[in-house]
Amino acid sequence: MKILKAPAELQAFALSCKRSGKTIALVPTMGFLHAGHLALIDIARQKADVVIVSIFVNPTQFGPNEDLERYPRDFERDSKLCAERGTDLIFVPNPEDMYCSDASTFVEETKLSQPLCGASRPGHFRGVTTVVAKLFNLALPDYAVFGMKDAQQLLVIKRMVRDLFFPVEIIAAPLIREHSGLALSSRNAYLSADEKSRAVVLSRVLDAAGSALRANGIEVLPGVLESMKHEIKNAGGKIDYVEALDASTLESPTAKTVDLLIALAVYFGKTRLIDNTFVWVKS
Ligand code: AMP
Repeated sequence: MKILKAPAELQAFALSCKRSGKTIALVPTMGFLHAGHLALIDIARQKADVVIVSIFVNPTQFGPNEDLERYPRDFERDSKLCAERGTDLIFVPNPEDMYCSDASTFVEETKLSQPLCGASRPGHFRGVTTVVAKLFNLALPDYAVFGMKDAQQLLVIKRMVRDLFFPVEIIAAPLIREHSGLALSSRNAYLSADEKSRAVVLSRVLDAAGSALRANGIEVLPGVLESMKHEIKNAGGKIDYVEALDASTLESPTAKTVDLLIALAVYFGKTRLIDNTFVWVKS
């Protein structure tokens, strides 16, 4: 397994793969890998000749008061896990090599990036689309795998790829959970044992909401959202948002909406967790 830090070296590697007719799959991550990330790598492995995993805690997607500095990092462990999963190359750049000090070009999706995490984390998705565009230009992937854990991110990236004609197929990977139902996340490392057990409420209320909507249709949505919020507060969660939006437009659902994204962001202690579920609603 190769490990590269320099953007130009990754691009040269990708070009040489292309010239020899090999397909490339890219898995962008911020590292501190868990089973959710590894499932993405497995999908990439099945799809392409060459698997590239990027590990980059991207500063431009963090707000000024967020956890950029303390975001968990363990490159030794990550590289072992990547090697075990058949990764061909890890790209682990330095921020100053990804962003020139006078960089003045950014990529911005302006519609799907507005609600949910876009509303609570201004500038976050601009950071994401910019870094993903850079990674695509360096790794030249035929496929790029993103997790449904970050459902809004996935939609934003798909829109960027469509709108800017990136020659890459975006593959959506299912959300991987612990046995308790808690969505796997590198940020779970911040949680105390008590916070972690209380955070199980998130997947429980999403499950219950999905069942209620499938059984009774969209007209029960207001009551469903209220009871989700109630249960989350009872478990000690501080709600950033709990919302249901049309899953393809991320606009408010109408009586005609059949495909819903129910998404939430909730703090347990200082840790902000996100989770979601997609629901086909009875029409
Ligand atoms: P991150 O390192 O958190 O930026 O995540 C890198 C990629 O892994 C993103 O495409 C995430 O959506 C995906 N990912 C993170 N956690 C999970 C999970 N629990 N299940 C599936 N994919 C995940």
